[in-house]
Amino acid sequence: MTASLLSPLTVGNVELKNRMAVGAMVTLYCDDDGMPTEQYIAYHEERAKGGFGLIITEDYAVDPVGRGFYCAGLWKDEQIAPHSELTQRVHAAGAKIFAQIYHAGRQTASALIGTQPVATSAVPCPVMGPITGDVPRELTVPEIETIVGQFGDTARRAQQAGFDGVEVHGGHGYLVAQFMSGYGNKRTDLYGGSLENRLRFPLAIIADIRAKCGPDFPVSFRISGDEFVIGGRGIAETVAIARRLEAAGIDLIHVSAGTYESSWAIVQPMYVKPGWIADFAAAVKKVVSIPVQTVGRVNDPAVADAILAAGQADLVTLARASLADPELPKKVAEGRTDEIRACIGCNQGCITLLFGGSPIRCLVNPTVGYEATDKVVKADVAKDVLVVGGGPAGLEAARAAAMQGHRVVVHERESQLGGNFRLGAVPPAKGELAVYIQWLGAELARLGAEVRLGSEVTVESVAAARPDVVVYAAGARHARPGIPGLDGPNVVEACDVLAGKAVTGARVVVAGGAEIGSETALHLATAGRAVTVVDQLPGMALGEGAARRYFLLKDLTEYGVELVPNATISSIGADGVQVEVGGTARFLPCDTVVVALGMTPDAGLAEQLRAVADVRVVGDADEVGDALQASRNGYTCGLSI
Ligand code: SF4
Repeated sequence: MTASLLSPLTVGNVELKNRMAVGAMVTLYCDDDGMPTEQYIAYHEERAKGGFGLIITEDYAVDPVGRGFYCAGLWKDEQIAPHSELTQRVHAAGAKIFAQIYHAGRQTASALIGTQPVATSAVPCPVMGPITGDVPRELTVPEIETIVGQFGDTARRAQQAGFDGVEVHGGHGYLVAQFMSGYGNKRTDLYGGSLENRLRFPLAIIADIRAKCGPDFPVSFRISGDEFVIGGRGIAETVAIARRLEAAGIDLIHVSAGTYESSWAIVQPMYVKPGWIADFAAAVKKVVSIPVQTVGRVNDPAVADAILAAGQADLVTLARASLADPELPKKVAEGRTDEIRACIGCNQGCITLLFGGSPIRCLVNPTVGYEATDKVVKADVAKDVLVVGGGPAGLEAARAAAMQGHRVVVHERESQLGGNFRLGAVPPAKGELAVYIQWLGAELARLGAEVRLGSEVTVESVAAARPDVVVYAAGARHARPGIPGLDGPNVVEACDVLAGKAVTGARVVVAGGAEIGSETALHLATAGRAVTVVDQLPGMALGEGAARRYFLLKDLTEYGVELVPNATISSIGADGVQVEVGGTARFLPCDTVVVALGMTPDAGLAEQLRAVADVRVVGDADEVGDALQASRNGYTCGLSI
């Protein structure tokens, strides 16, 4: 019989009630000293209540200089007691909890840890987010032995704090991975060169943990199946390593991918297929008898179940999926999979915010980051709430208001919900955006809210409806800066192109290379148009997260899209666009110009409505931002009614 998501799994001496695990994600919810806050505990507790069998926490640094972010810590005994409350509350909610323990090595910054980073060898990490590319100092042998002891001590503290096990982070380019990989390990002593030498550090860590925690304390090991860097490790060597780790006494192996050089492989955007590295877990599973855990944009329980059924892994990580829907396992168990709110792989709320130095959130779940403070309270008196606009802000406002018991009617002028966000699903690889809109529509129906499509409100119609509150969420429209020729017949707007309302000629110039412009360019290029993108900034899609931008630029190049940065548009004519690039005039011939020069709030009716109703303006109609901002803004507005 094949395992299913709901079947139990034994890891060491611990029984997990199902095969669904929350993977480690740095939250930045702890304080600067690595102590858990109420928000940190509430965040984990919510996922335990939602039915996950195993929760693996964010990285617990074994030493303050081994921190890559201001994440949790168990590097001193004072950190044990505060973490006991975390483990108790997670246990009370029915889940097991492992602490991931790590040392960042070179993947940190001197500004963050207050000293020069240390590493296997003096190989700097590329600059990204808070990582500033410092050249690290190569560890001496006594220092290596000290860090081995720190891993064991940290595991012992985790055990004393009530954690059910630890996951040693040997993946993603952190210190343990640096030792194991020829990419980061240039040593010529007993810790470098041969595989045997490169494994000396991780094997010593496992032995030290066993010595300090006993034979029964579960130890998992996370490893990148392939590092996706020149000269890094591949799956064949990972399989060989897995055998040795099992022999050393680990109880579970968690196979992921990538290092900071290939960060797209660690937290993959929507350009990467769900379950894309289950094959790596399967390769490891063939040679070990301990359970194997897989990960990699698994956002649908059907995919997770298929991985288990195919025998590729024994346990599936649903990391970002748990941000999007903490109740995913509960819904699976109750046969309500159609009610699951899926992660769309946008990376906006989680990894992009994290690398910008902010606590993680989630575009499709505006409660993430506010588990300790957001409260849905049934209203004593139900109000009539009229929502203008069916994009993320309006729909989240409607949802929150309906959850509190108010009577809600949403008016959307188009024939479908979603606003400009729906159009964002049109370019290649972005179809999953539509899933969020679909979920919001279904959720509103479940909550009894009414949705009127093709409904354009007027001051008169709102006055006649006499709502207690109007939520104005009409979104944004394209900005039209004063460029000569911009009102010509050969000029169309990107949103109209994506909506299928405007058809371009064979040769297209896209004016504006931010998210909408770049993605519309790719959409047109895949449809066979010859496309040029111009932007005044020094690059395209600069506001995007690193992983999304990596794929977008790669695809634009693959489809032959010409990118013209540092370009100022002088004028638009019937035959093309006149630009100035670095002081040199250039003419770009084309049949159609697609405008994507930013958005401006569509708040036209809001002021007039104030004469007849209590109006709250939310989302892009208030201030143009991203969808992450819009969903949270709408949701908090709905909660405030
Ligand atoms: Fe998924 Fe986007 Fe939420 Fe991150 S922010 S968990 S990628 S939906």
